[in-house]
Amino acid sequence: MTKGIFVNGVWQVKERTYPLYAPYDGRLLAHISKADAGDVREAIAGAHSAFDVMRKLPAYRRSEILASVVLQLKQRREEAAQLLSLEAGKPIRTARAEIGRTITTYEFAAEEAKRISGETIPMDAAPGGEGRVGFTWREPLGTVVAICPFNFPFNLVAHKVGPAIAAGNTVVLKPAEQTPLSALFIAELFREAGLPDGALQVVTGSGRELGDALVEDERVKKITFTGSSEVGKRIKAKAGLRKVTLELGSNSGLIVEPDAALDAIIPRCVEGAFAFAGQVCISLQRIYVHESIYQEFTDRFIEQTKQLRVGDPSDEQTDVSSMIHERETERIHSWVQEAVEAGARIGYGGRRENSVYLPTVLLDVKREMAVSCKEVFAPVVSIVAYKHLEEAIESVNDSVYGLNVGIYTQNLTTAFRAAKEIQAGGVIVNDIPTFRVDHMPYGGVKESGYGREGIKYAVQEMTELKFVTMKL
Ligand code: NAD
Repeated sequence: MTKGIFVNGVWQVKERTYPLYAPYDGRLLAHISKADAGDVREAIAGAHSAFDVMRKLPAYRRSEILASVVLQLKQRREEAAQLLSLEAGKPIRTARAEIGRTITTYEFAAEEAKRISGETIPMDAAPGGEGRVGFTWREPLGTVVAICPFNFPFNLVAHKVGPAIAAGNTVVLKPAEQTPLSALFIAELFREAGLPDGALQVVTGSGRELGDALVEDERVKKITFTGSSEVGKRIKAKAGLRKVTLELGSNSGLIVEPDAALDAIIPRCVEGAFAFAGQVCISLQRIYVHESIYQEFTDRFIEQTKQLRVGDPSDEQTDVSSMIHERETERIHSWVQEAVEAGARIGYGGRRENSVYLPTVLLDVKREMAVSCKEVFAPVVSIVAYKHLEEAIESVNDSVYGLNVGIYTQNLTTAFRAAKEIQAGGVIVNDIPTFRVDHMPYGGVKESGYGREGIKYAVQEMTELKFVTMKL
C-alpha cells in the first residue's frame, strides 16, 4: 500500500516513495510518498491561503473541530495504538498510554480555543494616560511549520497541531521518516472533523531534503520543532526573525536523597530509565544517589530491571522492545563499550538480544563519558553516589542540557533549594524527570531548547499580542 501526502484536503501519492519497515521485525508496513521541495511549496501556499478561512473561524468552531478529533480518536483508540506500536516499535501497553495522553492533549486544545483572551490595561496609571482605555487580544500568526520526532508521533504532533488550530493558525506538518502513519491517521480525523482544506497539510519524506523548503519560506510565520539539538540549531540558524520553538534533547538527571522511600521509588525509576527503550526526551539517564543508600538502591534497581520483559512490541507483556533503528543500537553499544574501556562497570545488560538492546545499568561512570554527558536516548542509565547535596546539584547542572530534573526528598528546605538551584525548564520533586502531564508548561533551557509547550503555553507562542488603546 502506498500512502500519499495530504495537501489541500487531497491525498497525493508521489512517484518517489520509500519503504517503511517495522523496527522490531523488519516487516514491510507501507510505501510512503517522498515529498520534494515543490510539494512543500505547494503545501505552504495552500496553508497560507487557508489562513484567510481559519482566521475567520469563530473560536467555538475551532473548539468543535478539535472536540470531534477527540471523539474520533476515542472511538478508534485501539487502531491508533496498534499503528503506533507497529511503526515506532513501541510496546503496545505504552502505545495505548500515548493514545490516552493524545486524547487529553486534544481535549485541552479544544478547551483552550475558547479562552484565548487578553487583558485591560489601566492606562491612567501613567501620567498622560488619562482619558484612555487600553486592552489586548491575541491574534493567530498564520502558517506554522511543525517538525516532529519519531518517539511520540501521536502526542507530540498533538502538542503542535492542537494549539495551532485552537489559535486559528494553519499547519504544515512534517512527521519523522519512521512514523508518518500516525500523522496521516490524524490528518484523516481532522478532515472528518470538518477542518477547512489546507489548514492541516502533511508532507512526508526526508527531513534533510525538505528542511530548507520548510524553514526558509517567508510565508511561514512560525517553526515549532521537536527533535535533536543538532537539527534544532540548524533550523534556528535559518529561521531569521521568525518565531521558533525548539524542544530538544536532554540527559535528564535525578537526585535521590537519603530519606527517599525506596519501595515506592525503585519501580518508578526503572520505568523512567527504560520506557520505550529510553527513547524519551526526558528519559532518566543519570541517577545521583546519596552514598548512605547507594548500595541498597543499586542492588534493588538492578533486581527490578531484571524483571523487565523484553521482546515483541505487540506482546501485552513486553516492557522494552527494539530501538528505532539498527544503527541506533550499534551507536549505544559502542558508547557503552567506550565507557567500560574507560573504567565503567556494567551492573546489568550491556548487550543486545536480536534487535533489542537490553536495559543496561552502568556503575562507576565518570561525567565526561558519552553515556553521561551526551544524550543516550537508549535503555542505558548510570547510578552514581554523592556525599553532599551541593555535589549532586552541581553534577546535575554540569550538562549542556536542561529539560526536566527530578529530586526525591521529604525535606521541604531541600526541595526548595533544589528547585531554585537546578538549571532546567522543570524541577520535579518526588518523582522522576520523566514525569509529564500535558497541560503543564514544558520545555528546556540551554541546549534543550527554548519556548514552552503544554497547550496554553504553546498557544501563547503561536499567537501575537495586539494592543489597542482608545482615547475617549
Ligand atoms: P531528529 O532531529 O533526527 O528528527 C526530528 C525531525 O526533524 C524529523 O521529522 C526529521 O525528519 C526532521 N529533520 C531532520 N533533519 C532536518 C533538517 N535538516 N531540517 C529540518 N528538519 C529536519 O530527531 P529524532 O531522532 O526523530 O528524535 C529524537 C530527538 O528528539 C532526541 O534528541 C530527543 O531528545 C528529541 N525530543 C525532544 C522532545 C522535547 O520535547 N524536548 C521530545 C521528543 C524528542
